[in-house]
Amino acid sequence: ALTLTACAGEGAGSDSGSSDGGDSAAEGGDLSVGVAMPTETSERWIADGNAVQSGLEEAGYGVDLQFAGDDIPTQTQQIDAMITGGVDALIIAAIDGTALTSQLEAAAAADIPVVSYDRLINGSEHVDFYVSFDNYKVGVAQATALLYGLGLTDQDGNPTDEEGPFNVELFAGSPDDNNATFFWNGAMDTLQPFLDSGALEVPSGQTEFDQAAILRWQQETAQKRMEDLITSTYSGDTELHGVLSPYDGLSRGIITALKGAGFGDTIEDGLPVVTGQDAEIASVKLIQDGVQQSTIFKDTRKLADQAVVATEAFLAGEEPEANDTETYDNGVKVVPSYLLEVDTVYADNITELLVDSGYWTQDEIDAGQ
Ligand code: BGC
Repeated sequence: ALTLTACAGEGAGSDSGSSDGGDSAAEGGDLSVGVAMPTETSERWIADGNAVQSGLEEAGYGVDLQFAGDDIPTQTQQIDAMITGGVDALIIAAIDGTALTSQLEAAAAADIPVVSYDRLINGSEHVDFYVSFDNYKVGVAQATALLYGLGLTDQDGNPTDEEGPFNVELFAGSPDDNNATFFWNGAMDTLQPFLDSGALEVPSGQTEFDQAAILRWQQETAQKRMEDLITSTYSGDTELHGVLSPYDGLSRGIITALKGAGFGDTIEDGLPVVTGQDAEIASVKLIQDGVQQSTIFKDTRKLADQAVVATEAFLAGEEPEANDTETYDNGVKVVPSYLLEVDTVYADNITELLVDSGYWTQDEIDAGQ
């Protein structure tokens, strides 16, 4: 994999991709790393891609960074091109965690180590390491935010005297993303005692992952599902108090549907409590404005650092250090993992978590972009 002759990744069929790092590797004859990110429609992946790229460049590697527009064939072509282009390591955030088997076989045949980034790649033994956040805990944190927003628990999840009942609806992420079931399981394990006691009810009856899942995490699909739920379940006297949403893009679709149906413009004004994930700038603004209740902050800079550290270890002929060697079974093997912690953002800790850490500036939050 050391004989890099072409600019890896160019012409890989990306409709939104960009590549500039392949050149430096070709010129310098240095080691290069292919970085495959799922999409540019969500800010977090742009931030991830940029942070991984700059971390690798600082460490002296050439970088071929590609975004796949959430299109599986585009991503497989991009990775194929990285491999034939001669990258020395791969960092992959998969669109569909099971669709990369032949790419990983080719990578293994060329001795290219593969770091699975944020989303576990399933069904292949050729996944060498996994860097992510503690995805089960993300779900716990989302459900805890919902319970706290309804007054059923404090911020740490300790039950209050409030008995409800409160009506909620549940959304899940994309079924082909391994994380989506971890988020769901963490959330449902947290909500279950309250569903069992009757403090929480799901009036639509849609409590299965398959009913709640939103393919490819699409905002429009979430908005449509919320509109359908409003029509089927909330057009009469039934009130809706909260919505479990696993990602800010979905949250904004849900909020658009709720506002459109006249539930109110802010939580104070009757809008149900809606959770989120990723601290996307548009959602942080909505949280500041009292519209969205919460989001989960995943510091993508820290994740990018871990991906770089793991890649450097492999390229130095070493094994990266894992802090979890039990949880992430991809169906073929348990993939050694490095998992990071997350924080829950509410209106009153935006400054502390997001501004003081330099993730967003206050001006960006005020502008919502
Ligand atoms: C990530 C989340 C993100 C979601 C949608 C998941 O795999 O872990 O942070 O919200 O994808 O992009």
